[in-house]
Parts: sequence; structure tokens; C-alpha cells
Amino acid sequence: MRMQQVSDNCFAVLNDKNRVCDANSGLINLGGGVVIDTQSDLPHARRMIELFGKVWPHMPKRIVNTHEDGDHVWGNQLFKGAEIIAHRTVLERMPHVADPSETQKLLAGADRFLSRLLLKAIHPGALAIARQLQQDYDFSGINLVLPTTVFDERHVLDLDGTEVQLIYVGPCHQVGDTIVYLPKERVLFAGDVIFRECTPMGWTGSYEKWLKILDLIIALDPEVIVPGHGPVCGLEGAMEMKAYLDYVREESSSFFARGMSALDAAKRIDLGPYSAWNAPARVYLNVERAYREFRHEVEDQPWDTAKSFDQIYKVAKSRGIRVEF
Ligand SMILES: [Zn+2]
Repeated sequence: MRMQQVSDNCFAVLNDKNRVCDANSGLINLGGGVVIDTQSDLPHARRMIELFGKVWPHMPKRIVNTHEDGDHVWGNQLFKGAEIIAHRTVLERMPHVADPSETQKLLAGADRFLSRLLLKAIHPGALAIARQLQQDYDFSGINLVLPTTVFDERHVLDLDGTEVQLIYVGPCHQVGDTIVYLPKERVLFAGDVIFRECTPMGWTGSYEKWLKILDLIIALDPEVIVPGHGPVCGLEGAMEMKAYLDYVREESSSFFARGMSALDAAKRIDLGPYSAWNAPARVYLNVERAYREFRHEVEDQPWDTAKSFDQIYKVAKSRGIRVEF
């Protein structure tokens, strides 16, 4: 984990491997300090606090959770007494979307011999992701701490005269998606609306909405974008995400028209330059999302996550690439 200064008063903390759960955090060191997203487990959250402590000696007074996924909220409990700000839907959804006991159980199952055999037989992808997470993460001791302040469309903070805009953009990749923009410093914290150098994963919303929000980001014209996952970038980060989503939707539509399953399409789609992004087999999720739209299914239909990880596993095996999430 390392810290990077991105403007006069904004910093980012980045995880090096850029795999699942390696989410970024941000710090605005004005007006009592604002932290954007709090990491996936307590050791990572403590390390993030230590790094931010080099430029902001006090515990930040405010947290923004860009959405309800665990990898962005599981360090909340370390900021005692802080105001935690998120979109209204995050308050409702976080208790089940980011229930830490599910992940804790998965990792415990991967440790015990019999359940490991069972997992391997029934859900090889779930076992593989559990093993990957065990290399970097320890999900013990996490207590979910929910937002204390919620907003609907927009929420503006005035930090010593510097305006910070929280703009609700969901459902896009998740229901509660919020971007954080500082016009004065031209810095935008994109949450998981932007994945950089790794394959995006979206759980709700539509392609059309996601592309529209990427256009909104481009129209805001930030100089620096801190994505939810991956290295800091400029507008090219938003443009490449758009190109990826357009490409995968287009390719999926021709496989769909030929009557091929989403799994088979994900095995065959030519990934071109995107094969260099981390975890390319996660393309399965994006193909399946496109298929759901072609079948006119409701956007917020829940995912069977264990099955989805199995499909990603199968795509990686079939392509002869490393199983990585
Ligand atoms: Zn994330």
C-alpha cells in the first residue's frame, strides 16, 4: 500500500496488486479531514490511517462511502465518532450487501479440510477466490458501521472555503454509487464507476446508465481521477472504461444473437488490449450483465455470487490464463 498526493490538498492510498478487494481510499486534508472509503479489512484500514497520518495528524472528522460494497466500508469502525456520509440507499443496503460474516464464513470454509473438499467439488471458483483473499486479507473483527448522514441527489461540503460536491450517480456499478468532486482542485474520486487497469465488475444498473455517468465525469473535466480500483489517472481513465463497456456490450450482442450462452461468450470474446488488465476473466460478469439486458430482465436482479465466481474460474481455465479475481 502506498500514498500518492494528487493535488494541493488531496491524497490517495492505493493497493499494489489491484485485485478484488484492493480498493483505493482518498483523503482531503481540509476542514477537519475527509476520508473517502475505508478499505476491506482492519489491517488495511490501520495502514491507510497511518499513511494519511503523515499529512493529516488528526483522525479525520468525516468519512464518505462511495457505495455499499464491503471493500469500501469495512474500515469504518476505526473512525470513532466520525460523520459517515453516503447516499440514502447505502444505509438500507449495506447490512446485507456488505455483511462481513458471509466473507468470514467463506474463508473459514476454505481452511477446514472437509468443507474445502466440498467447496472444491461444488464451487471451485468460490474456493479459488477465498484462497486469493487469504493471501492479503484478514476479515476478522469487522463490525459494520453504517452511514450517519444520508443524502438524495447531491451533498455539498464546505471545507475551509473549498467546495466538495458529492454527486449521486447510481445505480451504475452499485445502487449507492457516488462520485466526489472538488472543482477548485479539479480532482474527482470516482468510486467504482471507474476501474483502472483491471476488469470492471458491476452488480446493478445498466450499460446505458454507466456510459452516461462516464460522460458526466468527462463533462466535469477533472484533471485527476482517483478510481475505485487501480492507479490514479486523468480523463483517459473514463474514456477507456467507456470503450471497454461499449466493446463488451457490442461483442456480447453478436454472441447473444447466435444463441450462445454468456459463459461460452465470455470464453470466446476477443479481449484485445483488455487481456492485459488484471483479472480478464471477470469479463464474464460484464457479458452476463449485457445478456440480462438483452433478455429484458430487471436491473437489480440479485447475483448468485458463488456461481458467478465459478463462471469466472471456468473462463480463466478455458482461456488457459491464471485464475485471478
Ligand atoms: Zn470496489
